Amino acid sequence: MTNPFLNLEYETAMENLGDSYYEEVSPAEFSQHILRFANDDLLPVIGLDKNAVKENDWIEAFGKFQGIRPFLALKYHGYQFGAYNPQLGDGRGFLYGQIRGNNGILYDFGTKGSGRTPYSRTADGRLTLKGGIREVIAGEALHRQGVNTSRCFSLIETGESLWRGDEPSPTRSSVMVRFSQSHIRFGTFERLHYLQRPDLIKNLLDHVIYYYYPHLTTSENPYIEFYSELVERVALLAAQWMAAGFCHGVLNTDNMSITGESFDYGPYAFINTYDLFFTAAYFDYGGRYSYGNQPLICQWNLELLQKPLSLVIPHQDLQEVLTNYNQYYEEFYQGLMVKKLGFNNLPDNLTKKLVTETVNLLKESQVSYSQFFADLTSQFNYGWHENDSLILENSDINSSNFDTWKKLYHQALENCVREELDNIKNTLNQYNPQIVPIRNIIEEIWQPITTDDNWQPFHDLLAKIRS
Ligand code: AMP
Ligand code: MG
Repeated sequence: MTNPFLNLEYETAMENLGDSYYEEVSPAEFSQHILRFANDDLLPVIGLDKNAVKENDWIEAFGKFQGIRPFLALKYHGYQFGAYNPQLGDGRGFLYGQIRGNNGILYDFGTKGSGRTPYSRTADGRLTLKGGIREVIAGEALHRQGVNTSRCFSLIETGESLWRGDEPSPTRSSVMVRFSQSHIRFGTFERLHYLQRPDLIKNLLDHVIYYYYPHLTTSENPYIEFYSELVERVALLAAQWMAAGFCHGVLNTDNMSITGESFDYGPYAFINTYDLFFTAAYFDYGGRYSYGNQPLICQWNLELLQKPLSLVIPHQDLQEVLTNYNQYYEEFYQGLMVKKLGFNNLPDNLTKKLVTETVNLLKESQVSYSQFFADLTSQFNYGWHENDSLILENSDINSSNFDTWKKLYHQALENCVREELDNIKNTLNQYNPQIVPIRNIIEEIWQPITTDDNWQPFHDLLAKIRS
């Protein structure tokens, strides 16, 4: 076989766990395969050169699913909008294969839209093209902002007509492959609690620690340390979403990864303006998964995970570890926000004041969240250090606390030695992309695709997001 994707050295970590955790499935056969997105950026991670991979290689491997087997639909349950659902599982995807990156991390190729499985219930097992595009954009945009996220590896249009309540239908179809650190979810453990199988929970926990927390394998108490580190990782993720202005939209426990990685992008949105009550999913009537609720919901989800884990770890220990969550979250959030403002080394009290005032300003003025940081980045200059009235001088921000904010920002600049000042532009650039794909922007690139099959704006947007 000459297809480099089929010659990779796949590992069988999940397969070795045994079929208590998955069901072997077959992919759907599609009438058409058009490669719409291939994530060349990720090829070096798995040791491949862009020039060694042909378009047809992507299609054979990730559209026709030739070659490696078996494909595993993973079993899981989850709390959806607070209610336990024992009828979940990979309903339109499977684990295609697992591959060790040259950074040492074990990655999953997980499909979405690859056909029906025993967990599809009455649904079609498919992914809309628009849904696929939206997930590609989410992964790239979040990655650009430093969020610990899965990314799309490939997106192939498959030539079917789908019917959906939330898209003008019929609508086009696609199959996506996701590159992620694991598809083991909180809900994977929850299912085993439901089945009252502490033996399977223990096996899975050993597996998770061995593959995803390997530094804990030699520790005295790896189970509780795993939970402790997960609490920290999830607090970091929540802080990353909040700083990025990202609302995931559906934080059910089956969408929470056991590695603390962000994944599964359905009705997500980047906020236009700072609004804690903003909701992304049209079906989230109560605002349960609103932008501002995300840190709390993540904490609740961690608490729910204690149920299955307490079959093998003392519950009191789990509860005690979780009490650290708020402090982790606050520290991470402050740290990230102050970086979005350009600073690496401010004293804690100034960081706190500046972040609080910035959030107030964004809330009161209702200026574009991402544009505010993009403007700060493009306009920053040394003159701001000399004179606070020069800070964002051409801005049309209309808010009574703008002057207070400028004074505080100026105070932060004055706190910097020359070297740090030199670094501000870099830090601003690193944390603030010039474009963030808020919903209108995604709609704007989708229009030419539906009307003229014009993909140029989509590729232009990706290039801008990545630059
Ligand atoms: P999600 O909201 O994408 O996280 O999915 C929740 C559950 O519904 C998971 O078990 C999915 O596999 C399943 N699901 C969602 N959409 C489909 C579909 N079109 N066909 C089959 N299963 C689906
Ligand atoms: Mg999901």
